[in-house]
Amino acid sequence: LSDKLDKALHVLKGHGSITEVNVAETLKEVRRALLDADVNFKIAKDFTTKVKEKALGQNVLTTLQPGQLMVKIVKDELTELMGGDAEGINLSGNPSVILMSGLQGSGKTTFSGKLANYLKNKKTKKPLLVACDVYRPAAIDQLHVVGDQIGVEVFSDRGNNDPVAISKAGIAHAKANGFNVVIIDTAGRLAVDEVMMNEISNIHRAIQPQETLFVVDSMTGQDAVNTAKAFNDVLNFDGVILTKLDGDTRGGAAISIKSVVNKPIKFIGTGEKMEAIDVFYPARMADRILGMGDVVSLVERAQEQFDEEEARKLQKKIAKNQFGFDDFLKQIQQIKKMGNMKDLMGMIPGAGKMLKDVDIDDDAFKGIEAIIHSMTPHERSNPSILNSSRKIRIGKGSGTSVQQVNQLLKQFNQMSKMMKMMQGGGGKKMMQMMKG
Ligand code: GDP
Ligand code: MG
Repeated sequence: LSDKLDKALHVLKGHGSITEVNVAETLKEVRRALLDADVNFKIAKDFTTKVKEKALGQNVLTTLQPGQLMVKIVKDELTELMGGDAEGINLSGNPSVILMSGLQGSGKTTFSGKLANYLKNKKTKKPLLVACDVYRPAAIDQLHVVGDQIGVEVFSDRGNNDPVAISKAGIAHAKANGFNVVIIDTAGRLAVDEVMMNEISNIHRAIQPQETLFVVDSMTGQDAVNTAKAFNDVLNFDGVILTKLDGDTRGGAAISIKSVVNKPIKFIGTGEKMEAIDVFYPARMADRILGMGDVVSLVERAQEQFDEEEARKLQKKIAKNQFGFDDFLKQIQQIKKMGNMKDLMGMIPGAGKMLKDVDIDDDAFKGIEAIIHSMTPHERSNPSILNSSRKIRIGKGSGTSVQQVNQLLKQFNQMSKMMKMMQGGGGKKMMQMMKG
């Protein structure tokens, strides 16, 4: 989608003059781009008509920077189409019960974990996960793995194959044990069918959740709309979770679903890791669709993961020339915590395209980590003592070569130098610059 829109908006973004023909042509391209992204025909047509009216109303052609104004109008309209301001989830109950619905493979179990982790990090919330996918033993195991990973208790009952009974028992368990949020993970099927719909609506009726969420794979395009409609007809759900937005982003699903069921999109999933969850901001999504990159999200996520205390300690160390490999290792772990490298890079304007053929992943750090792990604690905090016999030992221990060890040392020294230069608020300044 963004490639096409890029092209369409290119003319308008340029300095060249703009004519009514230009506007019409651009809108045609915008519409084609929307259709390509599986946006419903009528929605796409209404959209361009609205944009055109606005453009004419604001006399785009006579302004100094018609291109910019036009981009703004397209962006604003797109934002409104996806739902205006971001909406949170209802956590007023005690416990607040959140029911997950959606097809098999849409990402319900993964998102249940992400949401539990997200709420747990808010300190005032103590979530409980409840396993109601009773058809495959592996599904219960999967939720337990997720729960262990994030340190959240999972309620399950392997002998029981009645999801209504399990969900009720789960809520009772939460009440008795001081959990204030209950997240109920359910079974989906590969396509919409009566058995699944009956089951989810039975659970829904029995437990009356504060929040019913419909989870949908953003890669499924126009099908996502039909599925959303089917679930909404039965559940009248409260919000949509759009998963797998880390892949070849199809913003189309966001636009169509919102238009067809008129329910807010609340969160997006941007990767397989538990941290890959973001609040859905229509304006940012519009930016992303328009190829401007979601810089705000990126900066926010980076800040969230960056421990202030840690930062202060680090700055002191740098100032005193005590920055060592242990600190370096911590930084790598920090970066990894932020999510898949490619996800992150994809949010930087322009980088997404560049990275299409490049494979950057966490493995890039594996060699580095192995080398550092093969150093003694004394060596880690005093890198200057690394002579050639130590380097040979480290190379052997980490399964790398002396050259690789040297390479890392070189990078480390460069980085230390750079950080020394940046200290004294330089880092903060950079963040501010990124924020614009
Ligand atoms: P469920 O059947 O609805 O419970 O779906 P799962 O949670 O088991 O997810 C199905 C697959 O999609 C798993 O392999 C997940 O790791 C993957 N997945 C879930 N959410 C995301 C996401 O946001 N991005 C990516 N890339 N993969 C995801
Ligand atoms: Mg599941």
